[in-house]
Amino acid sequence: MGKKDMSKYYKPKCTCGALLVLNTQEIWNCIRRITQDGDAGNLIQRQTNWDEDMPTFNLSCPKCDKRYNVDYDDSNRIIRGEKIN
Ligand SMILES: [Zn+2]
Repeated sequence: MGKKDMSKYYKPKCTCGALLVLNTQEIWNCIRRITQDGDAGNLIQRQTNWDEDMPTFNLSCPKCDKRYNVDYDDSNRIIRGEKIN
């Protein structure tokens, strides 16, 4: 198994009871062909980069719009941090 040290994980919830979602700001790096007219053409490849140093990185409630900092448990899993607003 290899997961003996993993305690059961509970997805982070808002104080209102709704499941929180991860709110991130992401940079997309897109590689495109060039068309015969010299324009930007079809997408060949897209890479998504994001990390917690971006200006927006928090947990938000889709129901009541409360925001929380992202925190991690001992197994590096996302848990709810302090309330932001
Ligand atoms: Zn809520």
